[in-house]
Amino acid sequence: MTQKKIDDMLASYDKDNLTICTVCSHSSLQIFNGARKEGFKTLGIAVGKERKKFYDAFPLGRPDEFLVVDDYKKILKNADKLKQKNVIVIPHGSFVEYLGAKNFLKLDLPTFGNRDVLMWESDRGKEREWLEGAGLTMPKEVKDPKKIEKPVIVKYHGAKGGKGFFIAKTYEEFEKRINKRKPYTIQEFVMGTRYYLHYFYSPISNDAYKIKKGSLQLLSMDRRDETTIDEVQRLGSIAELEEIGIHPTFVVTGNIPIVMRESLLPKVFDMGKRVVEKSLKLFGGIIGSFCLETVVTEDLEFKVFEISARIVAGTNPYISGSPYSELIQPDLSTGRRIAQEIKYANKKNKLSDILS
Ligand code: AMP
Repeated sequence: MTQKKIDDMLASYDKDNLTICTVCSHSSLQIFNGARKEGFKTLGIAVGKERKKFYDAFPLGRPDEFLVVDDYKKILKNADKLKQKNVIVIPHGSFVEYLGAKNFLKLDLPTFGNRDVLMWESDRGKEREWLEGAGLTMPKEVKDPKKIEKPVIVKYHGAKGGKGFFIAKTYEEFEKRINKRKPYTIQEFVMGTRYYLHYFYSPISNDAYKIKKGSLQLLSMDRRDETTIDEVQRLGSIAELEEIGIHPTFVVTGNIPIVMRESLLPKVFDMGKRVVEKSLKLFGGIIGSFCLETVVTEDLEFKVFEISARIVAGTNPYISGSPYSELIQPDLSTGRRIAQEIKYANKKNKLSDILS
């Protein structure tokens, strides 16, 4: 999708009747609820008609209307129908993952954020080039498994929600567990506490933490709840369990709200600013919500192991605001902040600056 095509599409839109649209999953309740609070119409794409059912239980998170498709690929075929409704698509993690990056790039509809970020986010090498190039510290990579001297985490490429990841403390342990048919990365296992930082970058507003172009907000943070690693200790130490062949797993099942020592916030903003400014140089900028996944070490150093370039499910505990967003505006969720950005851009005739 070229920006020219997006602009042509926007030119044909009825701008007084925009519809906020996303796939019914992940953070959609929050996105619909936020859009509703800002006065937008909402449309949910339900993959399979069973998906619709539970939305009836949440009237304030239910979209005004549904489009039911039987699989993700069919979304592409419905683009014209959706265009008639002046939709603006809000991508989230499940949307991009299940539709597939290539198809997401082909989606013929105005989409919130910069789709060029995908290339930098989905390739672990490029992600490292971006984040380290911005001056952030990432966990060290171990290229040769024979050189494993400290605990490492082994990650399979494209694994969904941490599935299949494992910890190894020695080369022998690595050899026992690795599936060499799947591409993988070996990373230093960083000891510390995890914080998932939810930022919002606006290239068109200047009323928050100022950066080279536009400004940055911190809306919330969470810690992921991962089965079985987060509760396995109820049964015994990890070392004990591994001896009898029970290995911890890292599958995300939920999110826990968290706040951080206030004295660490300057570092949080500095990291966010660096990531955005580098992204402006590399690919025209990461727009809207993004999340830095970090571990804070005992020396109060941040190590960033991943970036997610859109709304993350970790923002879901904050449908009615977080301890941080409450200091910006009461009742401000990330979903609502996205809707506000679209509303403001529309008013200022700047939709093209925040959509791709
Ligand atoms: P990811 O898919 O990269 O977000 O990783 C899934 C989970 O593995 C994270 O939420 C963390 O709990 C854990 N994890 C990932 N990378 C590291 C690391 N380098 N050190 C410690 N834990 C990690």
